[in-house]
Formats: sequence, C-alpha cells, structure tokens
Amino acid sequence: MKPDFSKGLIPAIVTDYYTKDVLMLAYMNEEAYEKTLETKQTWFYSRSRDELWNKGATSGNTQEVQSIDLDCDQDTVLIQVIPAGPACHTGVTSCFYNRIAEKEANFDPAIIEEVMAEVKQRKTERIENSYTNYLFDKGVDKIGKKVIEEAGEVVIAAKNNDKQELTNEVSDLLYHTFVMMANQGVELEDVKQELSNRFSKKGNNKGDRAEIEKW
Ligand code: AMP
Ligand code: ZN
Ligand code: ZN
Ligand code: ZN
Repeated sequence: MKPDFSKGLIPAIVTDYYTKDVLMLAYMNEEAYEKTLETKQTWFYSRSRDELWNKGATSGNTQEVQSIDLDCDQDTVLIQVIPAGPACHTGVTSCFYNRIAEKEANFDPAIIEEVMAEVKQRKTERIENSYTNYLFDKGVDKIGKKVIEEAGEVVIAAKNNDKQELTNEVSDLLYHTFVMMANQGVELEDVKQELSNRFSKKGNNKGDRAEIEKW
C-alpha cells in the first residue's frame, strides 16, 4: 500500500513518537515520500520554496522516522518521529503553539510529567518555603517515612470508603514517590519502560500488519 499522489501533494502529519505531540504538518510529493522511506528521515515538498526539503538539513533538527501510517483513503500520512530538536523553524517543539480556542476548565493530561518535572527542578533550584527542597535536604530516610505514612493513609481512606479522601491520599503518595524517585535518580521513563515490559504485548491491530514495511 502506498499514498495516492494522483491529485498532487499529500499532507504529512508529524508526531513525536514518545510524547505523541503533534509536531508539524507539511506536504509530500512522491519523491519526498520515497526519500523518507529510503533515509528514515522526513522529507517534504516546500510549496513556498517550490523544492524538495529534508527537514533539519540546515537547522540540524532532523526527524528519525519510527512509523508511517496511511489514512483511510490514502491521501494523508501520519509519521511518528524521534526529533533531534524543535520541529518548528521558530525554535519551538511543535508548530502548534497558537491556541485560538479551548473548552474551559480542563486539566493538562500530561500533569504527571509536569509534576515530576517540577519535583526534579527542586533538586537544584531553591524556592522559599519549598516543601520539596526540604524533603531533598532531609534525604532518603525522611522521604521514605513520608512514602510509608502516605501509603498507610491510602489504606485508611480506602477502609473509610471515602473516594475523595482516597483521591487525596493517592495524590500524596504519588507526589512523595516522585520525590523518592528523583532523589534516587529514577525517571518516570524507567517506570514506564518497566510497566511496558510487563504489559502483555497486544500489538497494533489496526489494518493489515502483513503489509507493513519493516526496518
Ligand atoms: P530545517 O528543515 O529545520 O533545516 O529548516 C529549513 C527551512 O525549512 C526553514 O528555514 C523554514 O523555511 C522551513 N521549515 C523548517 N521547519 C518547518 C516547519 N515545521 N514548518 C514550516 N517550514 C519549516
Ligand atoms: Zn484521507
Ligand atoms: Zn513551525
Ligand atoms: Zn496524606
């Protein structure tokens, strides 16, 4: 299966393999598509410059292709990449930084990563009255006591059959666990990798896998 270039250029949506962020959208002609397959880096066709374009050729911000998906009617590709740097020529990770509209009162689905990032920042950055600074100063024994204490409170909340209390205590436990991880140099990615290793590999059931080109 390959894209249908009979009507000209096709859009290529580029996403980050790890974060799943949508990084950019550009267009491909057949040559750009073939070069992308051949080099495992993204190639596009620039409509403004009217030329073939290897993403990152001048900026160094190349994109290592991890997978290519074709849409239902073969006129759009979705490319997952590991980017060497920002996808946008303005220097930001994703081209889509101009939020025009949003539904109110939604939380950031990446909140766990955000909390961990802030915890890690507190290892080197001192903030007045920071409880996280205090925990790092005290070290593994104090952090360990808090992890055990919060784990106990999780059990008590569960026995109280109080969902809000349980939610609060699980949040306390997660936060203190993150501090422990940061203190010992364990990354969220390490835990995700371990969970992924344990999770039964169900594979990708979309479409016909026999036709997938592997590299
Ligand atoms: P690069 O491919 O990153 O070396 O950038 C070379 C040129 O391609 C830039 O000066 C821009 O004109 C264009 N360019 C790079 N990235 C993008 C993008 N995400 N969207 C549109 N144009 C881009
Ligand atoms: Zn389509
Ligand atoms: Zn951009
Ligand atoms: Zn608690």
